[in-house]
Amino acid sequence: MDKIRMTTPIVEMDGDEMTRILWKMIKEELILPYVDLKTEYYDLGLVHRDETNDQVTVDAAMATKKYGVAVKCATITPNAQRMEEYHLHEMWKSPNGTIRALLDGTVFRTPIVIPTIKPAVRFWEKPITIARHAYGDVYKNTEIRTKEAGVCELVFTGESGEVIRKTVQKLSEPGVFQGMHNKESSIRSYARAVFDFALSTHQDVWFGAKDTISKIYDGAFKEIMQQVFDEEYKDRFEAEGLIYFYTLIDDAIARVMRSKGGFIWACKNYDGDVMSDMVSTAFGSLAMMTSVLVSPDGVYEFEASHGTVTKHYYRYLKGEKTSTNPVATIFAWTGGLKKRGELDQIPELTAFGEKLENATLAVLEKGILTGDLVSLAEEELEGKGINPVKVDSEGFIKAIKQEMER
Ligand code: NAP
Ligand code: MG
Repeated sequence: MDKIRMTTPIVEMDGDEMTRILWKMIKEELILPYVDLKTEYYDLGLVHRDETNDQVTVDAAMATKKYGVAVKCATITPNAQRMEEYHLHEMWKSPNGTIRALLDGTVFRTPIVIPTIKPAVRFWEKPITIARHAYGDVYKNTEIRTKEAGVCELVFTGESGEVIRKTVQKLSEPGVFQGMHNKESSIRSYARAVFDFALSTHQDVWFGAKDTISKIYDGAFKEIMQQVFDEEYKDRFEAEGLIYFYTLIDDAIARVMRSKGGFIWACKNYDGDVMSDMVSTAFGSLAMMTSVLVSPDGVYEFEASHGTVTKHYYRYLKGEKTSTNPVATIFAWTGGLKKRGELDQIPELTAFGEKLENATLAVLEKGILTGDLVSLAEEELEGKGINPVKVDSEGFIKAIKQEMER
């Protein structure tokens, strides 16, 4: 069989721990035998980030801007314990944070839904996509913790020389303070990314924030989103029979729980971070959620939304077989391959991505599962007369390969 040819490389960002092991298996078993894979490889494993003073992360983000499509493996965000474990020179920042700050953009996270796993919320029938604004707010904040009484002020010095000064709080004891920002241009391009994604996937958009409390900050998000919608998207949404609405974040959450799913839940940065874990877990598993960063200049970075699965990795190091779920990492690869196929007009490459996804879903539906999914799917499978089979990561990937060959 001839391998499928590629014309433009995918930016490949390797990562850490268990997901690094899965990364290699997925490439070797599921991609390299079929695709003449072209990648520009960046090793974002913590050891190499430390060796390059984290320059490799910046280089990988710049290459993503150049080529337009990247696939990223999960990476460790160092903390004090990792400093010791890896003898690091510095507590490097989160690679995802660095990449998002350079690419700007919106992260779309969608659960992978299969008929044998019923969501924890019984009303949900269709996936809920979280659209997370990936710039600024608390992720680019400045914080102060004080040891004495005093006053904290927020001062803005305009280029014109105008100064705006407001008192945050005067305290008669030690306390904590936080300053954060966002940019009009980033909110505007977020709005466009969300509405474009809604049109391309034919889904409504719900946006929730807290403008009753944060009248100026969240108020600006609400106002800019509405303005972009009214000026640029309203007619197209109406023609497609789609709706956009803003509601308080509290109300949004209540409505999400009562909904049937099948829409885009637009979230500010922090809300998107935490709510995507809630949504993915309620749909089944952290390991069954796709994630793609779409930048305003049309650059795509695909990844899994879970971490490096450290606990499984330590067991793997002891020589134990682990049953770590590779589905989200496989879908990161298929997302990248499909997008590359679309941009370079290589329909075989796009079709290959779809086949690999379908083979993965078919294996799950047959009841061949990693440990995290067994208890979730047991009841439905047994109802269909299928005995679930728990396999390790290697066994699962082999089963997908067999299904694909078939
Ligand atoms: P995690 O790697 O997502 O794992 C948390 C737990 O969730 C695991 O112990 C496991 O539960 C379950 N889990 C997650 N993914 C799974 C999979 N594919 N298959 C089966 N079970 C899975 O989160 P963490 O342990 O908090 O973080 C570990 C490291 O990942 C940290 O260094 C963190 O900085 C990094 N991280 C990276 C990213 C990223 O690069 N995008 C995101 C988050 C965290 P059981 O142990 O119960 O089986
Ligand atoms: Mg998170």
